[in-house]
Amino acid sequence: MDYEVYWHSSAHVLAAAVKRLWPDVKLGIGPAIEKGFYYEFYGRTFSKEDLERIEEEMRKIIKEDPKFIRKEISKKEAEKLFKDEPFKLELLRKMEGEKVSIYETGDFVDLCKGPHLRSAGEIKHVKLLRVNAAYWLGDEKNPMMQRIYGISFKTKKEMEEFLRMLEEAEKRDHRKIGKQLDLFGLYELVGPGLPILHPKGMTIRKELVKLMREVNDRLDFQEVYTPHVAKCELWRRSGHYEAYKENMFIFKVNKEEWGIKAMNCPFHIQVYKSRARSYRDLPVRYSEFATVYRREKSGELSGLLRVISLTQDDHHIFAREDQIKEEVEKLVRASIDVLKGIFKMRVKVKLSTKPEKHIGSDEIWEKATNALKSCLEEMKVEYELKEGEGAFYGPKIDFDAMDSLGRWWQLTTIQLDFFMPQRFELEYVDKDGSKRRPVMIHWALLGSLERFMGVMIEHYAGKFPLWLSPVQVRVLPITDRNVNYGRKVWGRLKSKGIRAELDDSRNTLQYKIREAQLQKIPYMVIVGDKEEKGKSIAVRDRSGKTKYGIKLNDFIKDLLKKIEERSV
Ligand SMILES: [Zn+2]
Ligand SMILES: [Zn+2]
Repeated sequence: MDYEVYWHSSAHVLAAAVKRLWPDVKLGIGPAIEKGFYYEFYGRTFSKEDLERIEEEMRKIIKEDPKFIRKEISKKEAEKLFKDEPFKLELLRKMEGEKVSIYETGDFVDLCKGPHLRSAGEIKHVKLLRVNAAYWLGDEKNPMMQRIYGISFKTKKEMEEFLRMLEEAEKRDHRKIGKQLDLFGLYELVGPGLPILHPKGMTIRKELVKLMREVNDRLDFQEVYTPHVAKCELWRRSGHYEAYKENMFIFKVNKEEWGIKAMNCPFHIQVYKSRARSYRDLPVRYSEFATVYRREKSGELSGLLRVISLTQDDHHIFAREDQIKEEVEKLVRASIDVLKGIFKMRVKVKLSTKPEKHIGSDEIWEKATNALKSCLEEMKVEYELKEGEGAFYGPKIDFDAMDSLGRWWQLTTIQLDFFMPQRFELEYVDKDGSKRRPVMIHWALLGSLERFMGVMIEHYAGKFPLWLSPVQVRVLPITDRNVNYGRKVWGRLKSKGIRAELDDSRNTLQYKIREAQLQKIPYMVIVGDKEEKGKSIAVRDRSGKTKYGIKLNDFIKDLLKKIEERSV
Protein backbone atom coordinates (compact mmCIF):
# COMPACT_ATOMS: atom_id res chain seq x y z
CA MET A 1 0.00 0.00 0.00
CA ASP A 2 0.99 3.60 -0.37
CA TYR A 3 2.12 4.88 3.00
CA GLU A 4 3.12 8.41 2.11
CA VAL A 5 0.19 10.20 3.76
CA TYR A 6 0.31 7.80 6.69
CA TRP A 7 3.99 8.48 7.33
CA HIS A 8 3.71 12.21 6.85
CA SER A 9 0.86 12.25 9.36
CA SER A 10 3.04 10.25 11.74
CA ALA A 11 5.68 12.97 11.41
CA HIS A 12 3.14 15.53 12.65
CA VAL A 13 2.36 13.35 15.65
CA LEU A 14 6.10 13.07 16.33
CA ALA A 15 6.44 16.86 16.30
CA ALA A 16 3.35 17.22 18.49
CA ALA A 17 4.87 14.84 21.04
CA VAL A 18 8.21 16.66 21.09
CA LYS A 19 6.48 20.02 21.56
CA ARG A 20 4.52 18.62 24.50
CA LEU A 21 7.68 17.40 26.18
CA TRP A 22 9.96 20.32 25.31
CA PRO A 23 7.88 23.36 24.28
CA ASP A 24 10.99 25.46 23.58
CA VAL A 25 12.38 23.16 20.92
CA LYS A 26 12.01 24.75 17.48
CA LEU A 27 10.41 23.00 14.52
CA GLY A 28 12.05 22.34 11.16
CA ILE A 29 10.39 20.19 8.52
CA GLY A 30 8.89 16.69 8.69
CA PRO A 31 8.34 14.81 5.44
CA ALA A 32 7.59 11.19 4.62
CA ILE A 33 10.60 9.47 3.09
CA GLU A 34 11.06 6.28 1.08
CA LYS A 35 10.64 4.12 4.18
CA GLY A 36 9.07 6.03 7.05
CA PHE A 37 9.34 9.66 8.07
CA TYR A 38 11.43 12.16 9.98
CA TYR A 39 11.00 15.47 11.73
CA GLU A 40 13.73 18.02 12.34
CA PHE A 41 14.17 19.99 15.53
CA TYR A 42 16.47 22.67 16.85
CA GLY A 43 17.47 23.32 20.44
CA ARG A 44 17.93 19.85 21.90
CA THR A 45 20.19 16.88 21.33
CA PHE A 46 17.98 13.85 21.82
CA SER A 47 19.19 10.82 23.77
CA LYS A 48 18.02 7.25 23.42
CA GLU A 49 15.90 7.74 26.53
CA ASP A 50 14.37 10.84 24.94
CA LEU A 51 13.30 8.77 21.94
CA GLU A 52 11.54 6.32 24.25
CA ARG A 53 9.73 9.16 26.01
CA ILE A 54 8.71 10.71 22.69
CA GLU A 55 7.43 7.37 21.45
CA GLU A 56 5.34 7.00 24.59
CA GLU A 57 3.95 10.51 24.15
CA MET A 58 3.11 9.72 20.52
CA ARG A 59 1.11 6.69 21.65
CA LYS A 60 -0.80 8.91 24.06
CA ILE A 61 -1.66 11.35 21.28
CA ILE A 62 -2.71 8.51 18.98
CA LYS A 63 -5.02 7.26 21.72
CA GLU A 64 -6.53 10.73 22.13
CA ASP A 65 -7.22 10.51 18.40
CA PRO A 66 -7.28 14.21 17.44
CA LYS A 67 -8.48 15.02 13.92
CA PHE A 68 -6.18 16.50 11.27
CA ILE A 69 -7.90 19.76 10.46
CA ARG A 70 -6.88 21.78 7.43
CA LYS A 71 -7.24 25.56 7.48
CA GLU A 72 -6.35 28.25 5.03
CA ILE A 73 -5.08 31.45 6.55
CA SER A 74 -3.37 34.57 5.28
CA LYS A 75 0.39 34.84 5.38
CA LYS A 76 0.05 37.62 7.95
CA GLU A 77 -1.92 35.38 10.28
CA ALA A 78 0.56 32.59 9.73
CA GLU A 79 3.45 34.87 10.65
CA LYS A 80 1.71 35.66 13.90
CA LEU A 81 0.91 32.02 14.56
CA PHE A 82 4.51 30.90 13.99
CA LYS A 83 6.17 33.95 15.54
CA ASP A 84 8.26 31.74 17.86
CA GLU A 85 9.24 29.31 15.11
CA PRO A 86 12.11 30.92 13.16
CA PHE A 87 12.43 28.03 10.69
CA LYS A 88 8.74 28.09 9.84
CA LEU A 89 8.98 31.85 9.34
CA GLU A 90 11.85 31.30 6.93
CA LEU A 91 9.75 28.83 4.95
CA LEU A 92 6.80 31.23 5.01
CA ARG A 93 8.88 34.02 3.52
CA LYS A 94 9.79 31.78 0.60
CA MET A 95 6.20 30.82 -0.18
CA GLU A 96 4.31 32.40 -3.02
CA GLY A 97 0.70 33.53 -2.91
CA GLU A 98 -1.36 35.26 -0.25
CA LYS A 99 -2.74 32.26 1.56
CA VAL A 100 -1.10 29.27 3.15
CA SER A 101 -2.55 26.09 4.58
CA ILE A 102 -2.01 24.82 8.10
CA TYR A 103 -2.93 21.56 9.78
CA GLU A 104 -4.09 21.24 13.36
CA THR A 105 -3.90 18.05 15.38
CA GLY A 106 -5.15 18.72 18.86
CA ASP A 107 -3.07 21.59 20.22
CA PHE A 108 -0.34 21.15 17.61
CA VAL A 109 -0.27 23.29 14.45
CA ASP A 110 2.00 22.88 11.45
CA LEU A 111 2.53 24.81 8.27
CA CYS A 112 1.69 22.17 5.71
CA LYS A 113 0.23 21.49 2.27
CA GLY A 114 -1.12 18.08 3.30
CA PRO A 115 -2.85 15.80 2.60
CA HIS A 116 -3.24 13.97 5.90
CA LEU A 117 -5.12 11.12 7.53
CA ARG A 118 -8.52 11.89 9.03
CA SER A 119 -7.27 11.49 12.58
CA ALA A 120 -4.17 10.43 14.49
CA GLY A 121 -5.91 7.29 15.71
CA GLU A 122 -5.47 5.74 12.27
CA ILE A 123 -1.80 5.32 13.07
CA LYS A 124 -1.58 1.91 14.65
CA HIS A 125 2.03 0.86 15.15
CA VAL A 126 4.79 3.41 15.48
CA LYS A 127 8.49 3.21 16.26
CA LEU A 128 11.25 5.80 16.41
CA LEU A 129 14.45 4.49 14.90
CA ARG A 130 17.32 6.91 15.27
CA VAL A 131 18.39 10.50 15.46
CA ASN A 132 21.12 12.28 13.55
CA ALA A 133 22.31 15.77 12.81
CA ALA A 134 21.66 17.55 9.52
CA TYR A 135 22.12 21.11 8.34
CA TRP A 136 18.91 23.10 7.95
CA LEU A 137 17.83 22.70 4.30
CA GLY A 138 21.07 20.80 3.63
CA ASP A 139 23.18 23.95 3.59
CA GLU A 140 26.44 23.90 5.55
CA LYS A 141 26.07 27.59 6.38
CA ASN A 142 22.81 26.91 8.21
CA PRO A 143 22.31 25.74 11.81
CA MET A 144 22.52 22.06 12.66
CA MET A 145 19.16 20.38 13.21
CA GLN A 146 18.41 17.15 15.07
CA ARG A 147 16.54 14.81 12.79
CA ILE A 148 14.44 12.05 14.38
CA TYR A 149 13.55 9.15 12.10
CA GLY A 150 10.57 6.87 12.62
CA ILE A 151 8.37 4.28 10.99
CA SER A 152 4.70 3.40 11.33
CA PHE A 153 2.44 0.68 9.99
CA LYS A 154 -1.18 -0.39 10.05
CA THR A 155 -0.44 -3.96 11.06
CA LYS A 156 1.85 -5.58 13.58
CA LYS A 157 3.01 -8.01 10.93
CA GLU A 158 4.30 -5.23 8.68
CA MET A 159 6.13 -3.67 11.61
CA GLU A 160 7.78 -6.94 12.59
CA GLU A 161 8.80 -7.65 9.01
CA PHE A 162 10.28 -4.17 8.70
CA LEU A 163 12.25 -4.45 11.94
CA ARG A 164 13.55 -7.85 10.93
CA MET A 165 14.79 -6.44 7.61
CA LEU A 166 16.33 -3.50 9.39
CA GLU A 167 18.23 -5.79 11.71
CA GLU A 168 19.41 -7.86 8.76
CA ALA A 169 20.47 -4.71 6.90
CA GLU A 170 22.47 -3.57 9.92
CA LYS A 171 24.23 -6.90 10.10
CA ARG A 172 25.04 -6.55 6.41
CA ASP A 173 26.20 -2.95 6.62
CA HIS A 174 29.08 -2.84 4.15
CA ARG A 175 31.11 -0.58 6.44
CA LYS A 176 30.94 -3.18 9.18
CA ILE A 177 31.67 -6.15 6.91
CA GLY A 178 34.32 -4.13 5.09
CA LYS A 179 36.21 -3.77 8.35
CA GLN A 180 35.64 -7.36 9.44
CA LEU A 181 36.92 -8.74 6.12
CA ASP A 182 39.61 -6.04 5.80
CA LEU A 183 38.33 -4.85 2.41
CA PHE A 184 38.71 -1.07 2.62
CA GLY A 185 39.28 1.84 4.96
CA LEU A 186 38.35 5.49 5.34
CA TYR A 187 40.93 7.69 7.01
CA GLU A 188 40.40 11.04 8.61
CA LEU A 189 43.86 12.17 7.55
CA VAL A 190 43.06 11.37 3.90
CA GLY A 191 39.65 13.00 3.90
CA PRO A 192 35.98 12.05 3.89
CA GLY A 193 34.55 10.15 0.94
CA LEU A 194 37.95 8.92 -0.22
CA PRO A 195 38.01 5.17 0.49
CA ILE A 196 41.25 3.24 0.24
CA LEU A 197 40.95 -0.33 -0.94
CA HIS A 198 42.96 -2.80 1.10
CA PRO A 199 44.43 -5.85 -0.70
CA LYS A 200 41.29 -7.96 -0.31
CA GLY A 201 39.01 -5.16 -1.50
CA MET A 202 41.32 -4.65 -4.46
CA THR A 203 40.94 -8.34 -5.32
CA ILE A 204 37.18 -7.86 -5.57
CA ARG A 205 37.66 -4.79 -7.69
CA LYS A 206 40.03 -6.66 -10.01
CA GLU A 207 37.42 -9.38 -10.49
CA LEU A 208 34.75 -6.78 -11.33
CA VAL A 209 37.08 -5.14 -13.84
CA LYS A 210 37.92 -8.52 -15.34
CA LEU A 211 34.22 -9.28 -15.77
CA MET A 212 33.60 -5.92 -17.43
CA ARG A 213 36.63 -6.31 -19.71
CA GLU A 214 35.15 -9.58 -20.96
CA VAL A 215 31.85 -7.83 -21.63
CA ASN A 216 33.67 -4.98 -23.37
CA ASP A 217 35.61 -7.37 -25.59
CA ARG A 218 32.43 -9.11 -26.65
CA LEU A 219 30.86 -5.77 -27.56
CA ASP A 220 33.99 -4.54 -29.38
CA PHE A 221 34.82 -1.70 -27.05
CA GLN A 222 38.38 -0.40 -27.18
CA GLU A 223 39.88 0.58 -23.87
CA VAL A 224 41.54 3.97 -23.48
CA TYR A 225 43.24 5.76 -20.61
CA THR A 226 42.84 9.44 -19.79
CA PRO A 227 44.36 11.87 -17.25
CA HIS A 228 42.76 13.02 -14.02
CA VAL A 229 43.13 16.74 -14.62
CA ALA A 230 42.46 19.06 -17.52
CA LYS A 231 42.54 22.75 -18.26
CA CYS A 232 39.25 24.44 -17.55
CA GLU A 233 39.10 25.31 -21.23
CA LEU A 234 38.06 21.71 -21.78
CA TRP A 235 35.36 21.93 -19.10
CA ARG A 236 34.13 25.19 -20.59
CA ARG A 237 33.90 23.60 -23.98
CA SER A 238 32.00 20.60 -22.64
CA GLY A 239 29.61 22.83 -20.72
CA HIS A 240 30.50 21.28 -17.35
CA TYR A 241 32.21 24.44 -16.15
CA GLU A 242 29.00 26.33 -16.52
CA ALA A 243 26.55 23.69 -15.36
CA TYR A 244 28.53 21.50 -12.97
CA LYS A 245 31.28 23.71 -11.55
CA GLU A 246 29.88 23.58 -8.00
CA ASN A 247 30.51 19.84 -7.94
CA MET A 248 34.03 19.99 -9.33
CA PHE A 249 37.43 20.53 -7.76
CA ILE A 250 38.87 23.54 -9.54
CA PHE A 251 42.22 25.14 -8.80
CA LYS A 252 44.67 27.64 -10.20
CA VAL A 253 48.32 27.13 -11.10
CA ASN A 254 50.26 30.02 -12.65
CA LYS A 255 47.08 31.92 -13.41
CA GLU A 256 45.71 29.02 -15.41
CA GLU A 257 42.56 27.33 -14.14
CA TRP A 258 42.48 23.53 -13.95
CA GLY A 259 39.73 21.11 -13.09
CA ILE A 260 39.98 17.60 -11.69
CA LYS A 261 37.85 15.42 -13.87
CA ALA A 262 34.26 14.78 -12.92
CA MET A 263 33.42 13.13 -16.28
CA ASN A 264 35.33 11.19 -18.89
CA CYS A 265 33.28 12.08 -21.95
CA PRO A 266 35.28 15.17 -23.03
CA PHE A 267 38.47 13.08 -23.08
CA HIS A 268 37.01 10.27 -25.15
CA ILE A 269 35.72 12.88 -27.55
CA GLN A 270 39.31 13.97 -28.17
CA VAL A 271 40.16 10.46 -29.27
CA TYR A 272 37.22 10.42 -31.67
CA LYS A 273 38.27 13.79 -33.03
CA SER A 274 41.90 12.80 -33.45
CA ARG A 275 41.25 11.71 -37.03
CA ALA A 276 38.70 11.99 -39.80
CA ARG A 277 35.85 9.48 -39.51
CA SER A 278 33.76 8.05 -42.30
CA TYR A 279 30.32 6.45 -42.01
CA ARG A 280 32.05 3.09 -42.35
CA ASP A 281 34.13 3.69 -39.21
CA LEU A 282 31.04 4.06 -37.06
CA PRO A 283 30.13 3.00 -34.48
CA VAL A 284 33.33 3.86 -32.61
CA ARG A 285 33.33 2.46 -29.08
CA TYR A 286 35.62 3.45 -26.22
CA SER A 287 35.69 2.18 -22.67
CA GLU A 288 37.64 3.12 -19.58
CA PHE A 289 37.76 2.34 -15.89
CA ALA A 290 38.20 5.89 -14.83
CA THR A 291 38.20 7.56 -11.44
CA VAL A 292 36.34 10.84 -11.33
CA TYR A 293 36.04 13.28 -8.44
CA ARG A 294 32.85 15.01 -7.38
CA ARG A 295 32.35 17.32 -4.47
CA GLU A 296 29.73 16.12 -2.03
CA LYS A 297 28.53 17.58 1.23
CA SER A 298 30.29 15.67 3.98
CA GLY A 299 26.94 14.87 5.62
CA GLU A 300 25.89 12.95 2.53
CA LEU A 301 28.95 10.73 2.29
CA SER A 302 28.49 7.13 3.31
CA GLY A 303 31.06 4.32 3.22
CA LEU A 304 31.47 3.16 -0.36
CA LEU A 305 27.94 4.07 -1.40
CA ARG A 306 28.42 7.82 -1.58
CA VAL A 307 32.00 8.93 -2.16
CA ILE A 308 34.06 11.75 -3.61
CA SER A 309 36.36 9.54 -5.69
CA LEU A 310 34.45 7.06 -7.79
CA THR A 311 35.58 4.81 -10.59
CA GLN A 312 33.14 4.48 -13.44
CA ASP A 313 33.04 1.56 -15.82
CA ASP A 314 32.54 4.19 -18.46
CA HIS A 315 31.67 3.64 -22.10
CA HIS A 316 31.07 5.95 -25.03
CA ILE A 317 29.75 5.03 -28.43
CA PHE A 318 29.84 7.41 -31.38
CA ALA A 319 27.18 6.21 -33.79
CA ARG A 320 25.07 7.15 -36.77
CA GLU A 321 21.41 7.79 -36.06
CA ASP A 322 20.44 4.58 -37.83
CA GLN A 323 22.75 2.61 -35.52
CA ILE A 324 21.20 3.72 -32.23
CA LYS A 325 18.78 0.86 -31.93
CA GLU A 326 21.25 -1.91 -32.64
CA GLU A 327 23.83 -0.46 -30.29
CA VAL A 328 21.40 0.13 -27.44
CA GLU A 329 20.01 -3.36 -27.82
CA LYS A 330 23.45 -4.83 -27.20
CA LEU A 331 23.94 -2.65 -24.15
CA VAL A 332 20.55 -3.59 -22.71
CA ARG A 333 21.25 -7.27 -23.23
CA ALA A 334 24.70 -7.08 -21.66
CA SER A 335 23.35 -5.12 -18.69
CA ILE A 336 20.64 -7.66 -17.99
CA ASP A 337 23.04 -10.57 -18.49
CA VAL A 338 25.36 -9.19 -15.84
CA LEU A 339 22.86 -7.92 -13.24
CA LYS A 340 20.44 -10.80 -13.54
CA GLY A 341 22.56 -13.62 -14.88
CA ILE A 342 25.67 -13.16 -12.79
CA PHE A 343 24.60 -11.22 -9.71
CA LYS A 344 21.11 -12.76 -9.51
CA MET A 345 19.37 -9.45 -8.98
CA ARG A 346 15.88 -8.56 -10.16
CA VAL A 347 15.96 -5.74 -12.68
CA LYS A 348 13.56 -2.85 -13.28
CA VAL A 349 13.93 -0.77 -16.45
CA LYS A 350 12.92 2.86 -16.86
CA LEU A 351 12.81 4.86 -20.07
CA SER A 352 12.95 8.64 -19.66
CA THR A 353 11.83 10.86 -22.51
CA LYS A 354 12.09 14.46 -23.68
CA PRO A 355 11.86 17.07 -20.91
CA GLU A 356 10.46 20.52 -21.44
CA LYS A 357 13.89 22.11 -21.54
CA HIS A 358 15.94 20.31 -24.14
CA ILE A 359 18.30 20.74 -27.04
CA GLY A 360 18.13 19.02 -30.42
CA SER A 361 15.26 18.93 -32.90
CA ASP A 362 11.95 17.25 -32.11
CA GLU A 363 12.64 15.00 -35.04
CA ILE A 364 15.84 13.52 -33.63
CA TRP A 365 14.25 13.17 -30.18
CA GLU A 366 11.38 11.25 -31.63
CA LYS A 367 13.60 9.04 -33.72
CA ALA A 368 15.90 8.28 -30.81
CA THR A 369 13.10 7.70 -28.31
CA ASN A 370 11.32 5.39 -30.72
CA ALA A 371 14.54 3.49 -31.27
CA LEU A 372 14.88 2.94 -27.52
CA LYS A 373 11.23 1.95 -27.17
CA SER A 374 11.16 -0.53 -30.01
CA CYS A 375 14.45 -1.97 -28.84
CA LEU A 376 13.01 -2.69 -25.37
CA GLU A 377 9.75 -3.95 -26.82
CA GLU A 378 11.38 -6.29 -29.31
CA MET A 379 13.52 -7.69 -26.53
CA LYS A 380 10.34 -8.13 -24.48
CA VAL A 381 11.85 -6.11 -21.66
CA GLU A 382 9.16 -4.59 -19.47
CA TYR A 383 9.78 -0.95 -18.72
CA GLU A 384 8.30 2.01 -16.97
CA LEU A 385 7.89 5.13 -19.07
CA LYS A 386 9.11 8.29 -17.36
CA GLU A 387 7.56 10.94 -19.53
CA GLY A 388 9.62 14.14 -19.60
CA GLU A 389 12.30 12.88 -17.21
CA GLY A 390 15.15 12.52 -19.67
CA ALA A 391 18.23 14.74 -19.51
CA PHE A 392 18.08 17.93 -21.54
CA TYR A 393 20.52 16.40 -24.02
CA GLY A 394 18.81 13.07 -24.75
CA PRO A 395 16.54 10.20 -23.67
CA LYS A 396 17.90 7.48 -21.39
CA ILE A 397 17.34 4.00 -20.05
CA ASP A 398 18.02 3.32 -16.36
CA PHE A 399 18.24 -0.03 -14.64
CA ASP A 400 17.37 -0.51 -10.98
CA ALA A 401 18.47 -3.78 -9.45
CA MET A 402 17.01 -5.42 -6.36
CA ASP A 403 19.36 -6.92 -3.79
CA SER A 404 18.73 -9.96 -1.63
CA LEU A 405 17.07 -7.77 1.02
CA GLY A 406 14.56 -6.39 -1.47
CA ARG A 407 16.15 -2.95 -1.73
CA TRP A 408 16.39 -1.25 -5.12
CA TRP A 409 19.64 0.30 -6.32
CA GLN A 410 20.01 2.43 -9.40
CA LEU A 411 23.04 0.99 -11.14
CA THR A 412 23.11 0.98 -14.93
CA THR A 413 22.40 3.89 -17.26
CA ILE A 414 22.33 4.12 -21.04
CA GLN A 415 22.19 7.75 -22.06
CA LEU A 416 21.76 9.19 -25.53
CA ASP A 417 23.42 12.53 -26.13
CA PHE A 418 22.88 15.05 -28.93
CA PHE A 419 24.59 17.84 -27.01
CA MET A 420 28.25 16.86 -26.66
CA PRO A 421 28.65 16.09 -30.39
CA GLN A 422 27.37 19.59 -31.06
CA ARG A 423 29.54 21.30 -28.42
CA PHE A 424 32.64 19.61 -29.80
CA GLU A 425 31.54 19.76 -33.45
CA LEU A 426 31.94 16.05 -34.02
CA GLU A 427 31.59 14.85 -37.58
CA TYR A 428 31.80 11.96 -39.94
CA VAL A 429 31.76 11.85 -43.71
CA ASP A 430 28.64 10.20 -45.06
CA LYS A 431 28.24 8.03 -48.18
CA ASP A 432 27.50 11.02 -50.37
CA GLY A 433 30.52 12.92 -49.07
CA SER A 434 28.49 15.25 -46.87
CA LYS A 435 29.49 15.93 -43.28
CA ARG A 436 27.17 14.62 -40.61
CA ARG A 437 27.03 14.65 -36.83
CA PRO A 438 27.22 11.41 -34.86
CA VAL A 439 25.12 10.67 -31.77
CA MET A 440 26.90 9.82 -28.52
CA ILE A 441 25.80 7.03 -26.21
CA HIS A 442 27.09 7.01 -22.62
CA TRP A 443 26.90 3.71 -20.78
CA ALA A 444 27.98 2.56 -17.33
CA LEU A 445 26.85 -0.91 -16.34
CA LEU A 446 28.13 -1.25 -12.78
CA GLY A 447 27.91 2.52 -12.37
CA SER A 448 30.80 3.06 -10.00
CA LEU A 449 33.07 0.26 -8.86
CA GLU A 450 33.12 1.61 -5.30
CA ARG A 451 29.36 1.83 -4.99
CA PHE A 452 28.81 -1.48 -6.76
CA MET A 453 31.23 -3.12 -4.35
CA GLY A 454 29.33 -1.62 -1.41
CA VAL A 455 26.05 -2.93 -2.81
CA MET A 456 27.57 -6.38 -3.40
CA ILE A 457 28.95 -6.59 0.14
CA GLU A 458 25.42 -6.05 1.46
CA HIS A 459 23.75 -8.16 -1.25
CA TYR A 460 25.89 -11.17 -0.32
CA ALA A 461 26.36 -10.21 3.35
CA GLY A 462 30.09 -10.71 2.73
CA LYS A 463 29.58 -14.32 1.57
CA PHE A 464 30.74 -13.61 -1.95
CA PRO A 465 30.38 -16.19 -4.67
CA LEU A 466 33.57 -18.17 -5.21
CA TRP A 467 34.80 -16.14 -8.20
CA LEU A 468 34.46 -12.87 -6.29
CA SER A 469 35.81 -14.05 -2.93
CA PRO A 470 39.07 -12.37 -1.93
CA VAL A 471 40.23 -15.66 -0.41
CA GLN A 472 38.75 -18.73 -2.04
CA VAL A 473 40.35 -21.49 0.00
CA ARG A 474 42.10 -21.67 3.35
CA VAL A 475 44.24 -24.71 4.13
CA LEU A 476 44.08 -25.85 7.76
CA PRO A 477 46.66 -28.41 8.95
CA ILE A 478 45.23 -30.24 11.98
CA THR A 479 48.54 -30.45 13.87
CA ASP A 480 52.09 -29.18 13.50
CA ARG A 481 53.01 -32.51 11.93
CA ASN A 482 50.73 -31.74 8.98
CA VAL A 483 52.02 -28.26 8.18
CA ASN A 484 54.44 -29.45 5.51
CA TYR A 485 51.75 -31.41 3.71
CA GLY A 486 49.42 -28.43 4.09
CA ARG A 487 52.04 -26.18 2.56
CA LYS A 488 52.30 -28.49 -0.46
CA VAL A 489 48.52 -28.44 -0.94
CA TRP A 490 48.53 -24.67 -0.60
CA GLY A 491 51.29 -24.35 -3.21
CA ARG A 492 49.37 -26.54 -5.66
CA LEU A 493 46.22 -24.44 -5.26
CA LYS A 494 48.15 -21.22 -5.80
CA SER A 495 49.94 -22.58 -8.85
CA LYS A 496 46.50 -23.10 -10.43
CA GLY A 497 45.56 -19.47 -9.83
CA ILE A 498 43.28 -20.18 -6.89
CA ARG A 499 43.42 -17.56 -4.13
CA ALA A 500 44.46 -19.67 -1.16
CA GLU A 501 45.84 -19.07 2.32
CA LEU A 502 47.60 -21.39 4.75
CA ASP A 503 46.80 -21.24 8.46
CA ASP A 504 50.02 -22.61 9.96
CA SER A 505 49.35 -21.10 13.39
CA ARG A 506 49.50 -23.29 16.48
CA ASN A 507 45.81 -22.83 17.20
CA THR A 508 43.43 -25.75 17.54
CA LEU A 509 41.48 -26.92 14.51
CA GLN A 510 38.26 -25.63 16.07
CA TYR A 511 39.78 -22.19 16.40
CA LYS A 512 41.11 -22.23 12.84
CA ILE A 513 37.70 -23.22 11.49
CA ARG A 514 36.04 -20.44 13.42
CA GLU A 515 38.52 -17.89 12.07
CA ALA A 516 37.91 -19.00 8.49
CA GLN A 517 34.16 -18.83 9.07
CA LEU A 518 34.41 -15.26 10.32
CA GLN A 519 36.28 -14.40 7.14
CA LYS A 520 33.44 -16.06 5.18
CA ILE A 521 35.91 -18.09 3.12
CA PRO A 522 34.05 -20.43 0.71
CA TYR A 523 36.20 -23.54 1.24
CA MET A 524 38.42 -24.90 4.00
CA VAL A 525 40.80 -27.67 3.11
CA ILE A 526 41.58 -29.69 6.23
CA VAL A 527 44.62 -31.97 6.29
CA GLY A 528 45.64 -34.37 9.07
CA ASP A 529 47.55 -37.63 9.35
CA LYS A 530 44.83 -39.57 7.57
CA GLU A 531 44.79 -37.21 4.61
CA GLU A 532 48.57 -37.15 4.42
CA LYS A 533 48.73 -40.92 4.35
CA GLY A 534 45.96 -41.26 1.79
CA LYS A 535 47.31 -38.33 -0.30
CA SER A 536 43.88 -36.73 -0.07
CA ILE A 537 42.17 -33.75 1.53
CA ALA A 538 39.00 -33.06 3.51
CA VAL A 539 36.88 -30.17 2.23
CA ARG A 540 34.54 -28.15 4.39
CA ASP A 541 32.22 -25.68 2.65
CA ARG A 542 30.54 -22.54 4.00
CA SER A 543 27.44 -24.44 5.03
CA GLY A 544 29.58 -26.51 7.41
CA LYS A 545 29.42 -29.77 5.47
CA THR A 546 32.69 -31.71 5.30
CA LYS A 547 33.64 -34.26 2.65
CA TYR A 548 36.54 -36.60 3.30
CA GLY A 549 38.98 -38.49 1.10
CA ILE A 550 38.88 -36.06 -1.80
CA LYS A 551 41.66 -36.00 -4.39
CA LEU A 552 43.27 -32.57 -4.61
CA ASN A 553 43.20 -32.64 -8.42
CA ASP A 554 39.46 -33.28 -8.47
CA PHE A 555 38.89 -30.47 -6.00
CA ILE A 556 40.96 -28.06 -8.11
CA LYS A 557 39.16 -29.05 -11.30
CA ASP A 558 35.79 -28.49 -9.64
CA LEU A 559 36.84 -25.09 -8.28
CA LEU A 560 38.23 -23.86 -11.58
CA LYS A 561 35.02 -24.80 -13.33
CA LYS A 562 32.90 -22.94 -10.78
CA ILE A 563 35.15 -19.90 -10.98
CA GLU A 564 35.06 -19.81 -14.75
CA GLU A 565 31.28 -20.10 -14.82
CA ARG A 566 30.97 -17.52 -12.03
CA SER A 567 28.23 -19.86 -10.92
CA VAL A 568 28.24 -19.77 -7.13
ZN1 LIG B 1 2.15 17.99 7.06
ZN1 LIG C 1 29.85 10.08 -20.66
